[in-house]
Amino acid sequence: MSILNPKRAAVKLFDTAGTKLLSPPATGFGYFVNHGPRDQRKVALTFDDGPSRPCTEQLIEAMDALEVKGTFFCLGMNVRYHPDLLLQMYQAGHVIGNHSGWHSRKTGLMPGSNISHITAGEEAIREVIGVRPRFYRPPWGWLTPWEGKRLTKAGYTIIGWDVYTLDWVIPEVDGMTLAHDAYHATQPGSIFCFHDAKPWEKIWEKRETTRAVRTLVPMLRDQGYEFVTVAELLKMPAYR
Ligand SMILES: [Zn+2]
Repeated sequence: MSILNPKRAAVKLFDTAGTKLLSPPATGFGYFVNHGPRDQRKVALTFDDGPSRPCTEQLIEAMDALEVKGTFFCLGMNVRYHPDLLLQMYQAGHVIGNHSGWHSRKTGLMPGSNISHITAGEEAIREVIGVRPRFYRPPWGWLTPWEGKRLTKAGYTIIGWDVYTLDWVIPEVDGMTLAHDAYHATQPGSIFCFHDAKPWEKIWEKRETTRAVRTLVPMLRDQGYEFVTVAELLKMPAYR
């Protein structure tokens, strides 16, 4: 603990500063939509990095039982691992968004006109479901103004969040804690950020996200909240 590794310290500083400047609750220089209307009790569950097995399968089974549709920001490479699962999610009425091809933070930070990281995710999804997603969430939630401009030009609406969860931490935070933390942060129009996979991993044993959703949904319904997709929350078409 007492030995300061300068490289590790620099990386940590970079991570902290980048997240503060570029991630929600920052507005992505005006490009992020971090929540829906505050005057109605509608909220949206979103999940990043999937699809994966068995996590996404267990999650959509639980959501089916709860009669909740979610919005899934999928990674091109994980879509290629599990195309059948993606199709099943789409056909069940979940909204599919783009989370880039391979979850690189660097590509979004690079200026210029290269959008191959965006189109790689888009193409993988389109090949399976036949339509192009309209919603995009940048990897790590980091959005530079030039990436915002590139995405907007490519026809995307960029979705952030206003309720962040620590469901990506390993070892897993228990579902009850995740649900209670999210519950206390909820406002009308909230967009929740959960994770149903780990980038670059085909198989992911992860249970607490599903447990959190099972707990959170009835708690908020008791308070008069309705769960909708991001498309319904923002009254926008989900695909192009
Ligand atoms: Zn991600």
